[in-house]
Amino acid sequence: MSSGIALGLHGGCGTLEHRLQSQADWSESRDHLAQALRAGWQILRSGGSALDAVQATVVVMEDSPHFNAGYGAALTARAEHELDASIMDGSNLAAGAVCMVRRVRNPVQAARALLDSGTALLLAGDAADAFAAQAGLTMVDPSYFTTQRRLDALRLLQQRAQTGAFVPATEAEKHGTVGAVARDAQGHLAAATSTGGFNNTPPGRVGDSPIIGAGTYARDGVCAVSCTGQGEIFIRRVAAYDVAARIQYAGQSLEQATRTLVFETLASHKIGAGMVALGATGNPVAPYNTLGMYRGWVTTDGQLAVATHQEIHRMGAA
Ligand code: ASP
Repeated sequence: MSSGIALGLHGGCGTLEHRLQSQADWSESRDHLAQALRAGWQILRSGGSALDAVQATVVVMEDSPHFNAGYGAALTARAEHELDASIMDGSNLAAGAVCMVRRVRNPVQAARALLDSGTALLLAGDAADAFAAQAGLTMVDPSYFTTQRRLDALRLLQQRAQTGAFVPATEAEKHGTVGAVARDAQGHLAAATSTGGFNNTPPGRVGDSPIIGAGTYARDGVCAVSCTGQGEIFIRRVAAYDVAARIQYAGQSLEQATRTLVFETLASHKIGAGMVALGATGNPVAPYNTLGMYRGWVTTDGQLAVATHQEIHRMGAA
């Protein structure tokens, strides 16, 4: 059916408690995960590159209000958006990333345009938006990204902080991120990640998502990884690269390496953490240590599945 092509995604490990959202919302978020997978799968199935597939997958999630990336992204403490994204080609280790962008509609496309241009690996802020505009990408007013749900979550977090109410923010109130990993018919691997960062985050804060090796990594023959969780710890642990190093130098399997990171290394910092990863062969894995993680995959036999909590929704052929 396919020559080892496979695709995985995550929509962040800050998934809400089941009861806090309507059935309609849950089912729409699952639909959007499936649409994202189909967009990437279509490219892989027609012989396209893993790089194009992860980009297409992430674009669909950036356009969905259900995930913390692009439209519907989290807000800083000043109620502004600062978006980060990165993409990496495992075949030659080329990468592109942007951080603190506010106007490019799909930050992952800006990261990809930068990868293609080869002029820099990481661009920040206004200069990154200017680069995106110059590259011909769709630009929007920053208000495009704002949804009522994010405004409400920000207000709640700020009210609690002001009244001194000691109610720890839930993972869902705080954050999320989207990411994808793919293996194409040539066996090339790629990974991409896009995020609005943390709700109520200090302006100017940049997390792991645009940092190659921390939130995103891909290397042919080893693995492709996209992470979600508190970025500071992923940067300190060089998390995505650590998965690759465990596989390459310590001979661990993809399952062992990702589980070690999520349930031991990152969990030891008492943070919510998750990732989606894919190896040189086999199917994607998506471990997480929170209540839930939006996730999904198309396995090498072309079967599509999505999940938010424990239950896995198998949706047949992609
Ligand atoms: N990793 C993201 C960041 O720290 C947030 C997340 O994945 O939830 O910006």
